[in-house]
Parts: sequence; C-alpha cells; structure tokens
Amino acid sequence: MTSLTTKIDIKELTRDQLVMWLNEHDIRPFRAGQVFKWIYMRQADSFDTMTDISKGVRDLFKSHFTINRLERVRLEHSEDGTRKYLFRLHDGKYIESVLIPEKKRLTLCISSQVGCSQGCKFCLTAKGGYKRNLSTGEINAQIIDVQNELGASRNITSIVLMGMGEPLANYKNVLSAVNIMTDTDFGLKFSTRRVTISTSGLVPRLSDLGRDTKINLAISLNASDNKTRNELMPINRKYSLESLIEACSRYPLLPRQKVTFEYILIKGVNDSTDDARRLAKLLKPVKSKINLIPLNEFAGCEFKRSDDSAIHEFQDILYKSGYPAIIRHSRGNDISAACGQLSANAMPL
Ligand code: SAH
Ligand code: SF4
Repeated sequence: MTSLTTKIDIKELTRDQLVMWLNEHDIRPFRAGQVFKWIYMRQADSFDTMTDISKGVRDLFKSHFTINRLERVRLEHSEDGTRKYLFRLHDGKYIESVLIPEKKRLTLCISSQVGCSQGCKFCLTAKGGYKRNLSTGEINAQIIDVQNELGASRNITSIVLMGMGEPLANYKNVLSAVNIMTDTDFGLKFSTRRVTISTSGLVPRLSDLGRDTKINLAISLNASDNKTRNELMPINRKYSLESLIEACSRYPLLPRQKVTFEYILIKGVNDSTDDARRLAKLLKPVKSKINLIPLNEFAGCEFKRSDDSAIHEFQDILYKSGYPAIIRHSRGNDISAACGQLSANAMPL
C-alpha cells in the first residue's frame, strides 16, 4: 500500500480535533487556525502554499494529511441560470450539488449522503437506494469546489442541505461540517442564518440539532394526515406527524426565525381544500412558513403534479389562516436539477 491511502483528508477534522493532533505532535495550537484559514478562506489545495507555516511543520502535515478535492465530472447549465455539478468521490461513487442564483442570493444545495434510505415515494434519490454517508470533508468540499469554479467575482451566499440524502441520518458528519461552515473566524464564514437543513423528520435528532446549532430548520412535510404521510414517507410510520410537530414546536428559534415546512403538491393525493385546512390547523403550535412545491415529475414517477387551480386554492386557504405560504417553482427542471430529481446518474462520458 502506498502511504497515500493511509493519509487523512485534513478537511475531516474539526478545529478542536486538529488542535488535539497538534498537541500530540508538540506544535503550538494556533497553527490550527492558520491551516483552517488557508483551507477554508483561501481555498489552498496544497500545504506548500501555507507560507506563514514553517517548512518543518508543513512537511509534517504533508506526511499525515492530504487536502482532497472532489473530481468534477460534469457541469450542466439550465436555461434559468441554475447549474448542476456532478462529482465523483474517491471510491468512484457520485453525488450532485446544485447552484441556484436568485436576485440577491447565490444558494448552493449540497448532498449529505450518496443516495438515501428513507424511501419517499415521490423522490428520485430514493429510487437508487442508500450507498453511504458523506464524510465531513466531502460535505464541505462541495462548497469549496463550487466556489473555486465560480472564482472570486461571485460568492455563494447561502447553503441548503437539501441535495441527495437525509442529513439527520448522517448527524455526526453533518454537524462537524456545519460547524466548519459557520465558523466565522477560521472556517467557511457562513452566518447561521444562511444555512438551512432539510429533513424528512428524524424526530429524536431534532432536539440534538436545536441544541448543537443555530441553523435554519426545514421539514419535508408533504401531507396533512398520518395515513397519507405513511404512504408517501415511510419515516412517518416510525415518527408520527404529531410527534414531529411537537418536536418542531420545541425547536429553539431566534426572534424572527421560523421553521419552514415544505409541502409537495401531488394531484389527488395531498392537494384538497380539506388538506389545506388540516395543514393550517396542524401547524398552529409552530412559528412556521410554508413552501408549496408543485411535484417535479420524473421518468417512472407514479404521481402527477397538482393543477394550477388546486395549487392556488391551497395557497389561498393557508394565507387566509395567517401563514406565509409561497409557491416555489422548482429551478433547473430542464437539467433534472430540481428538488427530488437528483440521482447522480453518471453517464459514461
Ligand atoms: N432528505 C431531506 C433533504 C433532501 S430532499 C428531506 O427530505 O428533507 C430535498 C427536498 O426535495 C425535500 O423537501 C423533498 O420533499 C423534495 N422533493 C423530493 N422529491 C421531490 C419531487 N419529486 N418534487 C418536488 N420536490 C421533491
Ligand atoms: Fe431521502 Fe429526502 Fe428523498 Fe425522502 S425526500 S428519499 S428523505 S432525499
């Protein structure tokens, strides 16, 4: 075996872990901050560029660590400006990240797992099953590599963990990655207000998340009653709607912060006026806003998108009940970059 395979990607380490490693090697702890700044703020991809660190220490780093990059194998551009990146991981598996330009924001949607084990019926990612968790380094490498490709003229402003996978099923790595993302002194410098995690509802993890971070929470709700949600999202058979809403009502929020509920509108399944009224009632205990997402269909999808009239009627009922309810037309449909369309389906190039 070459020594390469035994080296660790330095991006797997939190700053505390790097400080511990430095202590073990009799190197002063402030070096951790220097290395972090080089990697996350200046996006260095070699230890040799770290000129404020002595050569001896750099060589020690080099003998223990690598600075891995993801291999970008495809970049697709949508007519609406959305871009989809296909990355190959070191073990030959693939993930996708989606960059979504809006008026004032440039949002990057990143993946947290290769595939997903949650089995939601409307989601293409689910169809390929679960392959593995992404490491902390792989999660943040998506941000670094996309920012690198963009260059200095445009900065990613917001991160959403809404790509492939269920982030709360990969809690440890996601939490370390979020801590580095939101480290404003040495890390990727995103304000916690600019980072959002989307979950299908792993209820016990919600209290952990509220305790460990201050990032925004989005819940993929998609139904207003347990029977329908059980059918669409198997996770609901484990954690009922009531337990999910209860956990959301306890999620710590800043004064102007709200929990976002995402609700895909599926024709004849969850889009009736009764559903809208039930939803309004269900969400009462939570400071919430609602994103209504007309279903994105894909080849082999068993459902249909709701009619526009049903979508507007649904929105109207929520409005009248006092909820900010926005219809989110998905971006990047023409390149299969929209919600639920990520499959990392790498074609031979
Ligand atoms: N696993 C997490 C995050 C990734 S899924 C979660 O479920 O929240 C990201 C979002 O895509 C979720 O809100 C999900 O409800 C939505 N989604 C999945 N399939 C979709 C589809 N076919 N059309 C529209 N949105 C979809
Ligand atoms: Fe997984 Fe989210 Fe897709 Fe459900 S919607 S299968 S949790 S990625």
